[in-house]
Amino acid sequence: MSLLTEKCPICQKKLKNKGQGFFNLKTIKQCPDRHYEKEFHPALETYIETYKVS
Ligand SMILES: [Zn+2]
Repeated sequence: MSLLTEKCPICQKKLKNKGQGFFNLKTIKQCPDRHYEKEFHPALETYIETYKVS
């Protein structure tokens, strides 16, 4: 699993880094067109995916 190669499942564009969460406990990556967002939680070694399809 590599965050650097993540792509939007909708439009296949490369996700951009939206920023760090509180105390850097998570990293948020988002599709440039806002179809999709992924929160990565290094401490928990897991991530949360959010689809924003209308
Ligand atoms: Zn997209």
